[in-house]
Amino acid sequence: MPHNLSQYLNKQATQTLIKENESFNFTCAEKCWGTCCIKENVNLLQLSVYDVYKLLNKRTDISINSLIDIKIDEKTNLPKAFIKWKENGWCPNLADDGTCMVYDERPFACRIFPLSGEFMINDETKNVTVNYKLREDFCYGFHKEAHPEEQTLKTFSDSNDENFEKLEISKREEWVKKYNLEKLTNQQFLNLSQAMYCLKEKITGKRDNFFDYYSKMLKIPQRSKRLEIFTPAELTKIALEEFAPRMLEKFGAHRA
Ligand code: SF4
Ligand code: SF4
Repeated sequence: MPHNLSQYLNKQATQTLIKENESFNFTCAEKCWGTCCIKENVNLLQLSVYDVYKLLNKRTDISINSLIDIKIDEKTNLPKAFIKWKENGWCPNLADDGTCMVYDERPFACRIFPLSGEFMINDETKNVTVNYKLREDFCYGFHKEAHPEEQTLKTFSDSNDENFEKLEISKREEWVKKYNLEKLTNQQFLNLSQAMYCLKEKITGKRDNFFDYYSKMLKIPQRSKRLEIFTPAELTKIALEEFAPRMLEKFGAHRA
């Protein structure tokens, strides 16, 4: 592997809670040979519905199966999406020159690096809040050679991405409480994944039948708007709030 900055990697770096008004010194190097973008150092890189949608729109050059891994959450039976590491352990979006091919649209987890977010749900109000933790002295970006600059939490958390993470988490929690999910068949699981991750048009190559497909299956009125009229954010919201819950009902998931 050509990266020469791994000497700065500190996997034992401690994580400390960081508050909104606190600052820390860090600058992400323009090229760091993906020290934070390889399986060995990250293991699982989870993607929200919004992340998946942004990635699929950006990486039209490779197949969805080379980009995203969908696994069933053992506890809930709901699909979760992850970056699919390449055989050499690199992220499929990491270019040979050590840069990220989707930098402007990179997933939330990458956007907040070297922070990590812990999402908490208030049982009474149902509000989702985030605790951010800082992996201090984790990588090159903290060292004097990288000329670290003073940063605040705001620099790292993008409110739009954060809102969609919160939406997905609150919906999952709601579904888990509402349904006793039975083991889904492969086809049901595929349909639910497609609804949650807006994959249909990527799999079939047809960009205009997303709503028709689900409307027919769920026996709900067809939408007049074509797929490309929706923004990724709108589409994600519809997938989470409208189609995925109806899929769960359709699959015969029982109310608890
Ligand atoms: S976060 Fe750290 S390891 Fe990752 S590219 Fe930036 S400086 Fe390098
Ligand atoms: S999407 Fe970009 S920033 Fe995120 S792990 Fe892949 S190469 Fe790194």
